[in-house]
This record gives sequence, structure tokens and C-alpha cells, in this order.
Amino acid sequence: MEKEKVLGIDVCITTYEELRNAIKNDIEQNRKSYIVTINPEKVIKAKKDKSLKEILNNAKYQIPDGIGIIYASKIKKGKIKSRITGIDTMEMICDLSNKERFRIFMYGAEADVVEKAKIKLEEKYQNINICGYINGYEKNEKSVINKINNSKPDILFVALGSPKQEKFISQNFDNINCKILLGVGGSFDVISGKKKRAPKWVQKKGLEWLYRLIKEPKRFFRQTKIISFIFEVMLQKNNKKNN
Ligand code: UDP
Repeated sequence: MEKEKVLGIDVCITTYEELRNAIKNDIEQNRKSYIVTINPEKVIKAKKDKSLKEILNNAKYQIPDGIGIIYASKIKKGKIKSRITGIDTMEMICDLSNKERFRIFMYGAEADVVEKAKIKLEEKYQNINICGYINGYEKNEKSVINKINNSKPDILFVALGSPKQEKFISQNFDNINCKILLGVGGSFDVISGKKKRAPKWVQKKGLEWLYRLIKEPKRFFRQTKIISFIFEVMLQKNNKKNN
């Protein structure tokens, strides 16, 4: 899959359809890989955290989740044109699994949230096979991994927030027996109904980040990273021009 660098982080130039086919092939050919979502906050964090940078760049697929990534690509005349969000990728994988009978394990969020999210997905996708789930506050990581492996999933969704979920995936990649691992952040909260996603028109205008900020003002300091991100992207562009 073609990729483009955004401040040192690889990002896939792809569509939902291409990604869906790639995932289907990976599972059918027994290839193991993990997927990470890329947004400005994560790119800025990765600048300071070398291990996070490595984890992001070692993923097979880095999907452009945040609108800031699209703007950054536009500024440097790149090819990333539209967002591929974590939650929509998760839904796309659920739809694929519904058709292909792939087995899914859900790990993360509060106990009632993950349980409710599982029920909601089973209502929406009648043939889905969610072979197990566990909340994200279980302290014993060994027992989490045993539970995942005993359920024999093809796909693992990890909803621990970032960078916790990326670190969990990378540290346990060799010990978890499944084919696709995807970090999905707060997606179980949305699917369970605990949190609302921005209306479609807000998403289309690229203002989902603003909606989340209004709904959860405590995210303010996290969102300020967008400013340093844009600043760094402009700086990099100017440096290239001057060289
Ligand atoms: N979470 C968890 N275990 C933890 C910390 C967080 O399961 O130790 C869950 C939390 O309940 C929530 C999700 O991780 O469902 C984080 O959501 P957030 O929207 O903050 O994710 P991000 O913005 O990082 O994608």
C-alpha cells in the first residue's frame, strides 16, 4: 500500500474499499499485522516518544484518522485526500466479518460499556461472531492475553486510548494469536451509546475535533497539540522551500 510521511510518521494513501480488501486478504492468507490510527496529537506525541514513533511506523497500516493529517498532506501537496477513521474502520471490519464469519475479540473500555457495545454490534450485524470480550481495566495482562488466545479470534479490537493501546499491541504482538489487531480509542464508548459521535454534517466539514472539544472541554490541552502540529508542518514546508 502506498504511504506518505507526515512529520516522520508513515500514513497510508488508501480508501475504505482498498483497506477492506487488504484486510480480507491478510486474514485469508494467514498474515498477521496491526493497524494504527494517525491524528495530529499522536504525531506530536511520537516526536517526543521514540518508542511510540517506532510502533506507529512498524504498523502495516497507518490510517489517516484526523482531519489535521489531510490538511498536512494538502499543505505539502501530498496525496492523502480523505479521512479513514478508526471507528469507521472498526465498523467496516465488523461488516466484513459478518459476511466472512471472521471471529472478533473486543478488549477495552469499562465493563458495562464493552458489554453494551458487543450487544449493539450483534444487533446491527446479525451474523457477527464476537467470540469474547474483556474490559480495559483488568490489571492482570497475562490473564487478558490468555482470555484472548483461548477465544481464538481472527481480529482484536483494542480500546484503551492512546498511546496505551498502541503500546499494548506492540508489546504483546508476538504473544497474541490473531491476524489483525486494531487500536480503536474511544469507539466502544460511541458504539455502546455512552458517548455521541458528531452529526454527519459536522464530520463532513472536518469539525469532529471541535464537537468533541465542546462535549469534553477537559480535552482542551490535548487539542492544543493541533496548533503545534500545524506549526511544525508549515515549518517543514518552509525549510524544504529554502533548501
Ligand atoms: N480505557 C481503558 N483502560 C484504561 C484507560 C482507558 O479501557 O486503562 C478506555 C476508556 O474507558 C475509553 C477509551 O479507553 O473507552 C479511551 O477513550 P478516548 O476517547 O480517550 O480515546 P482516544 O481519544 O485516545 O482515542
